[in-house]
Amino acid sequence: MKYGRNEPCWCGSGKKYKKCHYNRTRKEKPRIYEPINSLQRALKVMRCMASTHVPSACSGRIIGAHTVSRCFLKNIAENGHVISPNTTPHSTIKNNGESIFEKIGINKASVFNGFCQTHDKQLFAVFEDNEFHATDEQCFMLAYRSICRELYNKMQVNNLSSTLRDFDKGESLITQKSFQDTLNQITDGANYGLRDLITHKNNYDKVFQNKCYSELRSYVYEINRTPPIMASVGFFPCKDFDGIKIQDLRDKKVLDFISINIFGLKDKGYLVFSWLSNSDNTCQHFVDTFDKTRNKTESIVSLLSQYCENLYINPQWWDSQNESVRSSISARLNDHMYERPIIETLGIDDWNISNFNQKKAGTPTF
Ligand SMILES: [Zn+2]
Ligand SMILES: [Zn+2]
Repeated sequence: MKYGRNEPCWCGSGKKYKKCHYNRTRKEKPRIYEPINSLQRALKVMRCMASTHVPSACSGRIIGAHTVSRCFLKNIAENGHVISPNTTPHSTIKNNGESIFEKIGINKASVFNGFCQTHDKQLFAVFEDNEFHATDEQCFMLAYRSICRELYNKMQVNNLSSTLRDFDKGESLITQKSFQDTLNQITDGANYGLRDLITHKNNYDKVFQNKCYSELRSYVYEINRTPPIMASVGFFPCKDFDGIKIQDLRDKKVLDFISINIFGLKDKGYLVFSWLSNSDNTCQHFVDTFDKTRNKTESIVSLLSQYCENLYINPQWWDSQNESVRSSISARLNDHMYERPIIETLGIDDWNISNFNQKKAGTPTF
């Protein structure tokens, strides 16, 4: 097959053929450390996710901002460390594509380069410097931080996939084709995800600007002890807690989005589900099925271990669990095809998760 040197390359990268796949078969294959280094570079996005709208302007440098506050993490730390899945490219490549649970210092745990100094301090003081009463503003800021992190991550993935385009150097034309096809399939999905997250983030920004917190739905549960697992995540729920399909990721319409935060103080904790009114359809039902589950501790740990890598565990608790509990949690974390059941009987102790404060869904006004 002949391709014009100045025509767009067949792989879909958007570059000219001569600048992209021309002669690639004869190029030297990348050495193993080259891909790892370029993956790590692609992941280094520095950007304040709050910059576009909030009343005060960005100031100070972009910092490593916590997505589970340090003041919560310190309540489950042992000698300043917690246990968390290591998802860095270096570690996953070393471990055959699996994320391994490892100790991490709480100054690094849950950190992303997604806020400037000023905004990181200002926006979250409402629950970091004040007692948690599940006020509208506190719940909103928790959810806001979650969606900022998810959007930031998706931007990283997009960066990553353009970096990956070059990794078929030195391969046969057939391998190049199937490699680029796979990449196109992945980025297609990622682009819908990016579009949906941008749409939701814009809605969160509007709510924030106008302080119309009545658009926010929150279901808050109280936990009678410091939860040994803390996490912050936002996603498009695809199955309810009965295992019934409620959304399809392949759907071309904007999917409903929910955030979940679980965190704690010295002797108690909170589990907060939040979404905006335009996600009522899916999220109200999702939370209703959670509310009916027999063992809320097993249910939430099952869910988080499957959907959330932003997960921090008390080392003492982790060590005290049976090997079967630890391996089930690890297996769920690495279950990228979502083949395991939505709720698994893991055999962990009950944390006494009870209703604290619920705000029923109303009529969407978006
Ligand atoms: Zn190309
Ligand atoms: Zn900022």
